[in-house]
Amino acid sequence: MGVQRMLRLTMASHSCPRPAAVAPRASRPLSSLLLGPSPAAARPRPAPLACAARPCRGLAAASPSRGAAGRRLPGLAAMSSSTTPPPGPVQKSEEEWQAILTPEQFNILRLKGTEYPGTGEYDKFFDEGIYKCAGCGTPLYKSSTKFNSGCGWPAFYEGLPGAIRQTPDPDGRRTEITCAACGGHLGHIFKGEGFKTPTNERHCVNSISLKFIPASEEA
Ligand SMILES: [Zn+2]
Repeated sequence: MGVQRMLRLTMASHSCPRPAAVAPRASRPLSSLLLGPSPAAARPRPAPLACAARPCRGLAAASPSRGAAGRRLPGLAAMSSSTTPPPGPVQKSEEEWQAILTPEQFNILRLKGTEYPGTGEYDKFFDEGIYKCAGCGTPLYKSSTKFNSGCGWPAFYEGLPGAIRQTPDPDGRRTEITCAACGGHLGHIFKGEGFKTPTNERHCVNSISLKFIPASEEA
């Protein structure tokens, strides 16, 4: 009897969770955010409507009018260039950009317009390959980092190293992303929305700013 009780006590003390097993409690929220299915710690994902609710400035540029209307906005161009960071290695005058870009590309890449949600060529497109800047051809994103955010624009959780530049919008509410090489406007980046991606970031990018190159055609 006595021995049995001793034994039980001993076993109980052995089976006590070691401190190490208890300690991870503190780090659980972090690991669950990064890895697992979210317990209570991970908030329900807010509807990814940040873009749709507050479209990137000036939708006028994205109207289907393919004519002169959207083309000449020198005032706007001048304004935007004053808020963008120093240009990358690819520099062209407004006239040069107009010569090589379609009006839609010019309006978005150079004048920071936004295409209508759900209309972009790459919104629901998940082929394997890379996405280059439609302006200068610099590789920006791998298809393996693209995910379906449901927001109406292509979404990536991560850009290629050094390819994407982040700049706070003047109103401080959002962060613009641009091609680091040519300064072309891509869209905006949103962080901490609860998407189960390795970075919990969403690069919300206009399809028109991108040019997809299938894996089979990569050099
Ligand atoms: Zn570029």
